Amino acid sequence: MNNQTVATNWRTKKRKRRWKNWGLLLLIMFVLFGVFPKAGVYAYFFDRGSYQDKYLDSETIVTDLDELSPKTKELAIRFLERCAEEGLPVKITETYRSQERQNKLYEQGRTQPGAVVTWTKNSRHTDRRAFDICKQGSDPYGDEEFFRRCAEIGREVGLSPGYYWKEHPDKPHYELKSWWL
Ligand SMILES: [Zn+2]
Repeated sequence: MNNQTVATNWRTKKRKRRWKNWGLLLLIMFVLFGVFPKAGVYAYFFDRGSYQDKYLDSETIVTDLDELSPKTKELAIRFLERCAEEGLPVKITETYRSQERQNKLYEQGRTQPGAVVTWTKNSRHTDRRAFDICKQGSDPYGDEEFFRRCAEIGREVGLSPGYYWKEHPDKPHYELKSWWL
């Protein structure tokens, strides 16, 4: 083996190692941003709050802001404060929803009687990162201008308002944008 070959081999090896590192980095990124949030690992370690296990049935409607993840709760409070400043009488109709309740709602209008009220079994209500609102008073869902103004404020404070969704607009719905908070 002459010196030239030794040098070339060494260079190839180094290049290979570098690619290996990139592969490892990609794998780590995939686990961190792809798998962990979906598996609720972040929620488990960093965002547990003091949630109660008494809401696991399919009947109970939870409206308690404490049942939301800390970041969602923070933005919800900011949202409510801003709406109050603007004179918009917002009422929280639901925050956390158990998977049992989500499944039941999903069957409504499909295998069960009633109107279709949800388009997914994977709602962000079930991982404590969404809440629904209506207007206080006698006409909770009829005031278009109310929901339009609220959605503007929701977007302003950093939430994703269902009002703007193209495919399935969901006027009363607000959720956290990111999967990992
Ligand atoms: Zn909702």
